[in-house]
Amino acid sequence: MTGPRVVLVGGGHAHALTLRAWARDPAPGVRLSVLSPDRHAPYSGMLPGYVAGHYAWADFHVDLAPLAAAAGAELVLDRAVGLDLAAGRIARAGGPALDFELCSLDTGSTSEPPPLPGHDAHLHPVKPIDRFLDAWHRFLDRVAAGEVAPRAAVLGGGVGGGELALAIAHRLEAAASEAGVTLIERGPEIAAELRVAARRRLRRALAERGVVVRTGTEATAFAADGVATTAGDTVPAGFVTAAVGARPAPWLAASGLAVTADGFVKVDAQLRSVSDARVFAVGDVAHLTANPRPKAGVFAVRQGPVLHAALRAALADATPPSYTPQRDYLRLISLGAKRALALKYGVVAGGTGPLGALLWRLKDRIDRRFMADLDLSG
Ligand SMILES: Cc1cc2nc3c(=O)[nH]c(=O)nc-3n(C[C@H](O)[C@H](O)[C@H](O)COP(=O)(O)OP(=O)(O)OC[C@H]3O[C@@H](n4cnc5c(N)ncnc54)[C@H](O)[C@@H]3O)c2cc1C
Repeated sequence: MTGPRVVLVGGGHAHALTLRAWARDPAPGVRLSVLSPDRHAPYSGMLPGYVAGHYAWADFHVDLAPLAAAAGAELVLDRAVGLDLAAGRIARAGGPALDFELCSLDTGSTSEPPPLPGHDAHLHPVKPIDRFLDAWHRFLDRVAAGEVAPRAAVLGGGVGGGELALAIAHRLEAAASEAGVTLIERGPEIAAELRVAARRRLRRALAERGVVVRTGTEATAFAADGVATTAGDTVPAGFVTAAVGARPAPWLAASGLAVTADGFVKVDAQLRSVSDARVFAVGDVAHLTANPRPKAGVFAVRQGPVLHAALRAALADATPPSYTPQRDYLRLISLGAKRALALKYGVVAGGTGPLGALLWRLKDRIDRRFMADLDLSG
């Protein structure tokens, strides 16, 4: 086939939905490729539930193979390592570069703090999720074998870090009686982005679960027995993770695309790079210049169908549609056990009580429905 080639780089939420939309409405004569290091892409909204022990691995992984097949796309199992704009080519780690007429970037972000001593051996940031899960499973095995104490630490007291600390505490308590989890935050307060009432409920959930919260504290080194801190002590932990804000891969900035100071790809209202009309970017990796938003999966999800329409329009030399992100969204924060907090328009509901149990069921239903829509394996 010699039609134009469209390459979707990364199998994140937005691209999975783009494939779904493409399967329903394909562009004749177009060669579509998806480049993803793994056939299965994790859905982070259900990750804390998996860590807590509420879900199986398959529950929160999107199988890209049937999605790609339905869309008539070639699934290339590899990782992009560079973007050569002059040649219109994506370099990959394990094979020949892919030429493109149009490409879209949905490679997400990582949550790694700047490296400190012991980082490589003893820190397991939550993203990339596959690497986090490998380390988490190894740790659980060692806890089960009695080789290591059921103690963990989480760096980063944002909402993601709080959810993760609660999930880990829930899981470890089920595995052993003397579990201990510490949440380490360098700022004066955890979940600083939340309003006071929501923050208070998150704090209460952490306290009820026995998670120790250390604010105004930074890690200085990692070792097999825990995290050394700026307070001069060591937080005991056989497993240390981090959820310290999103960072994009450095090869994006190196490509010469217009990026923000921290390396996110600047896109216009059509999700198109402001510096190169052949390149689209969606999800965490994109910076919406017209309507900046925090990094959250809900935006990636809404962008999927818009990206499909935008690519179709670009292929037809038409003007792609505009994407306007929602101002606010229903935020459901899981609390370790099957409980959740709900936030919208500044109002907070739920927590560790009966309403929280109801909200967990709502979150569970929304998440499972999302996964079911992307499951073409049957
Ligand atoms: C613990 C935790 C809980 C969260 N919970 C929520 C929540 O409840 N609601 C919410 O809205 N947001 C949540 N988030 C934020 C959410 O994870 C992100 O905003 C969302 O995943 C972004 O989706 P994405 O499509 O940009 O990328 P991702 O879903 O991260 O997907 C990126 C994909 O690209 C692939 N990839 C990476 N590099 C390359 C490469 N070089 N070449 C090819 N492929 C590559 C990866 O393997 C991955 O599959 C949470 C985050 C964390 C850490």
